[in-house]
Amino acid sequence: MKTWCCIENCGACCRFDLAERESISEVLSNKDIALIKSMTSNDGWCRYFDKSNKRCTIYESRPHFCRVNEFSRSFKGYLKNGDKFLIDCCKQHISTIYGRRSKQMKAFNTAVL
Ligand code: SF4
Ligand code: SF4
Repeated sequence: MKTWCCIENCGACCRFDLAERESISEVLSNKDIALIKSMTSNDGWCRYFDKSNKRCTIYESRPHFCRVNEFSRSFKGYLKNGDKFLIDCCKQHISTIYGRRSKQMKAFNTAVL
């Protein structure tokens, strides 16, 4: 079974469009949604994401919904399918942001082997 992990220099999940993330909206509080809206720049990227280095600039104090290991337990899909759910989510984000043949997708596929 494959084990999920996050890769460096990705950040594909740091671009928000809650309209496209129904499963996330369902488990977020109104306070969380307000925080996400306040964090989101006009181009959809989190304003704490350093696009040139593809890194979170507030990593140690990032919100709970950015902490995948903890936040994943809020999803029925994770409770049912475990890491496969997280891997599928990451692949979806990476494919949308960088493309299915991107270096981020290759790095992710290698990391979760
Ligand atoms: S999409 Fe996945 S691998 Fe990429 S930064 Fe987010 S959690 Fe990490
Ligand atoms: S706070 Fe950091 S981890 Fe969370 S979305 Fe923004 S850049 Fe990404």
